[in-house]
Amino acid sequence: MSTPVLRDAESSGLADQPESFADVGQLLRELKPHNPVYCVFPHVYRESTKAFLQGFPGRVLFGVKANNDPRVLRLLIESGISHFDCASLPEIELTDRLCPSGTKYFMVPTRIRGAARDAQRVHGVRHFMVDHVDGVAPLANEIDMSKSIVFARMAVHHKAAMSDLSVRFGAKPADMPALLQSIRDTGAEAALAFNVGSSVTDPDAYRYAMNITREVLTKLPFRLRLLDVGGGYPKSYPGFTVPHLDEYFRAVTESFAELPLADNAEVLGEPGRAIAAPGMSAVVEVLLRKQDRLFINDGMHGVFWELRYDGHDRYPVRTFRDGVLLAGETASFTVNGPTCDSEDTLPGKVELPRDIRPGDYLEFGGIGAYSLSGRTDFNGYYSDRIVTITSTAEFPPSLPQSGDG
Ligand SMILES: *Cc1c(COP(=O)(O)O)cnc(C)c1O
Repeated sequence: MSTPVLRDAESSGLADQPESFADVGQLLRELKPHNPVYCVFPHVYRESTKAFLQGFPGRVLFGVKANNDPRVLRLLIESGISHFDCASLPEIELTDRLCPSGTKYFMVPTRIRGAARDAQRVHGVRHFMVDHVDGVAPLANEIDMSKSIVFARMAVHHKAAMSDLSVRFGAKPADMPALLQSIRDTGAEAALAFNVGSSVTDPDAYRYAMNITREVLTKLPFRLRLLDVGGGYPKSYPGFTVPHLDEYFRAVTESFAELPLADNAEVLGEPGRAIAAPGMSAVVEVLLRKQDRLFINDGMHGVFWELRYDGHDRYPVRTFRDGVLLAGETASFTVNGPTCDSEDTLPGKVELPRDIRPGDYLEFGGIGAYSLSGRTDFNGYYSDRIVTITSTAEFPPSLPQSGDG
């Protein structure tokens, strides 16, 4: 994914002002676009960022992989994000360029050789990660450990998480004391990190991970200062209603207070989806209808790629005809993307107006996470038209979390 990071950063968005429209209806009336258009709603991003910064009881690191579009990153930075959870040198370069005064964290246990050295020398990165004792020496060869904080990542899995990351990442809790000690032996400050998964549907997953953390911490002959509780804070999608973020904040706050940490301890969170998802929509054109099957100009190789994983299988949607919202009786449709791949089918049924036809437009909301950052140009289908919607009365289609009033 390093190529799109650089291409997006250099070709658009940094210097250019994005095109802007009052609302999606105006966009459709003026552009009648035949390629997908991705709409950014700045007021929604200001809200999602503010909600996280105010609710989370510690440092908020934005998980850059969820959305690396420079225009979106700029909005998050303007809204107060100044810490970045990065997984590669290109992500560090991008966030350093957009937010030179911010703090970039290189939070993956395996890196391209030489990347940690460049991250520290060129970009002043001080926070790194390992998840195995054999990962400590290669890191120590590239950076000045005495100036660095190295997180030992612990594997935890909870059934409420969308994917089991503990298979690929993390040390077993029983191995954590030795790993933390080996980090200290290099002269670095040792810290602890875990990530329970993505789209975590139960706040108790964080309590569970914190309990395991407590058992590890009580075995240590020293106290840690930093605990990184990762990402995974979910958003609701159709058929996938999740608890309110406040319940996750409460779980982290309460269980963090119970931990034997240093007096000046801080908790770090790495939200990607919770901040990135709400503020974008994808506006696509209907190309063909075959009874209850529609073909549209974006698909599983484009912005809808995340739907192939467990978790949600749909986005909220609304329909436009001739630049105005189309209402009325609905029916269930299967939606296909434009490529020649037989798998280019959105997995969930989509409820749409019964008389929908080619030339109508669909607007899928809540697509800001894991969409732009992973789309490909497979078969020659790719759009980089990203516009701003300025009216604060206009919201992308969205769904409440349970407990929203
Ligand atoms: C992907 C990832 C995140 C962000 O996850 P969300 O589910 O989008 O909040 C945070 N931390 C790590 C280590 C990740 O891999």
